[in-house]
Amino acid sequence: MSQHILIVEDEVDLANLIEITLINAGFEVSKANDGKTGLSLALSGNFDLMMLDIMLPEVDGLEICRQVRLNDPSTPIMMLTARDTETDRIMGLNMGADDYLTKPFSIRELEARVRALFRRSQLSVDSKPPSQDLVFGELCIEPERHKVSFQNSPIDLTSTEFDLIHFLASNPGQVFSRSQLLDSVWGYNHLGYEHTVNSHINRLRAKLEACDTLPKVVHTIWGVGYKFEYL
Ligand code: CA
Repeated sequence: MSQHILIVEDEVDLANLIEITLINAGFEVSKANDGKTGLSLALSGNFDLMMLDIMLPEVDGLEICRQVRLNDPSTPIMMLTARDTETDRIMGLNMGADDYLTKPFSIRELEARVRALFRRSQLSVDSKPPSQDLVFGELCIEPERHKVSFQNSPIDLTSTEFDLIHFLASNPGQVFSRSQLLDSVWGYNHLGYEHTVNSHINRLRAKLEACDTLPKVVHTIWGVGYKFEYL
């Protein structure tokens, strides 16, 4: 069964171009040209990946992303944005999106990113033999269930946040640069996207720090990158 992708984009020509590209690449595609239709489709739970334009009539892409994430932390979401500003990027990420593309983008880049997102979500579902649970004190990282818990309470992470902590915690004490994390966690290394890593790390950290008694585990090594250490 082919993977089903939802495109919510009000620029009809662009939506059609993305649709044709993804169909030719072997995916099943549904699309909506306004936010309201997009939102109800997005909440139907029928999709393996969603691409959401930010500026949409009626309901914007960020709101769709936010509402999807209320009940679904793991379906990959890619934001499409016309505004190449830091604010938009970070806002998109704070709503729980996994990746974003700034218009204009090349259609080959889009296809590569979609495949990278699927590779990552497949890896976490299919990886065999199943990776072992990682346990640090009362912090438990369970790759098979894609779950992180502290003192038996689950910590809600997006799939990207999970992949990040799982990757870092699989190599405790080892420092990784942003570029290495893009390679290993995102599956591509696109020059200029290093700040994507910072945003996801910050969000992951905020969620971990909300657990009062959990010691700091994601450490910044200034000028180098990040490492996991449970002290
Ligand atoms: Ca738009």
